[in-house]
Amino acid sequence: MKIKNVILRQLKMKLKFPFTTSFGTFLDKDFILVEVQDENGLSGWGESVAFMSPLYNEETLKTNWHLLEDFLIPMIMEKEIGHPDEVSALFEPIRKNNMAKSALEGAIWDLYAKRENTSLAKALGGTKQEIEVGISIGIQNTVDDLLTIIDDSVTQGYRRIKVKIKPGWDVDVIREIRRSFPSIQLMADANSAYRLSDIELLKQLDEFDLMMIEQPLASDDIVDHALVQKQLATPICLDESIHSVEDARKAISLGSCKIINIKIGRVGGLTESKRIHDLCVEHGLPVWCGGMLEAGVGRAHNIALTTLANFTMPGDTAASSRYWEKDIIEPEVTVHDGLITVPTTPGIGYEVNLDTVDNLTVRKQVFEKATLTARK
Ligand SMILES: [Mg+2]
Repeated sequence: MKIKNVILRQLKMKLKFPFTTSFGTFLDKDFILVEVQDENGLSGWGESVAFMSPLYNEETLKTNWHLLEDFLIPMIMEKEIGHPDEVSALFEPIRKNNMAKSALEGAIWDLYAKRENTSLAKALGGTKQEIEVGISIGIQNTVDDLLTIIDDSVTQGYRRIKVKIKPGWDVDVIREIRRSFPSIQLMADANSAYRLSDIELLKQLDEFDLMMIEQPLASDDIVDHALVQKQLATPICLDESIHSVEDARKAISLGSCKIINIKIGRVGGLTESKRIHDLCVEHGLPVWCGGMLEAGVGRAHNIALTTLANFTMPGDTAASSRYWEKDIIEPEVTVHDGLITVPTTPGIGYEVNLDTVDNLTVRKQVFEKATLTARK
């Protein structure tokens, strides 16, 4: 296939509730939606998960736009692409900028699957018809607020509860959760809020039978995590530290984690996500799919990836209505009894609602081979 047009859109979507982590509070989400078109005008869709500020990693919406406009789109335009696995190789000369690469690669995967008349899940080698989902709950004003949200989430059937922790909001909070919910599948995500010197505090979390503690230490560390893992009974899951299958190989070999959270954007796309999944199969590590407050297109990509066999732990892909008044896809992602039914129609399996997209678009740029400089 050949990519004839690429359309970049910046959307601004209001979140239903403010979302707080140790990075700050988000009230709405700006993101880039990528549309690629082939010679028949068929469209594939991808979504960048870069935030407005370089807080999760070094990328931002603006750096993604720059990378896409000036480097990545010219690299794939009019190239004969036999299979989307070739795209990450084409991008190899560009260092990092994984979220920008992933947004474009994901759109090409969707287009490829549509051309093959198969679902993205099947194109990736996925086998599941439905996937288990959990929910990620930000830091709240009070423990009571948190317990109420957990209660609602359990009632709705979510299979796993993940709570954010940070110094001052950790052991006592987890103890309260366990007192009220002794048997739920519970995990804590620290988003790098701790240091090696916090080891004694982290060890106190061992008594609560957590499924895992996610990314307790620095976002670029795998060495100190290995020291902590040796002293913890609770499995460490790495998120921010894993950017590639090479990172995963090194972390596994050091014993830095027992679980990996695969985020498609963080690792540069679906092809690299599959490679990490396959490596973890070889080494007996389970994986799960994390969330980045995605809108519908990103959510659909997460669902497709999660159909691979070794995604044995519930992911973060909650229902659209958990985060958005109205999502950009039809139907929206819905969760019943903690399960999402994987769509079987070609590509991502959800229709992008162009009216909704237009209403939310604050910037748009069309790239064509003829001009390659863009029309605004
Ligand atoms: Mg995380």
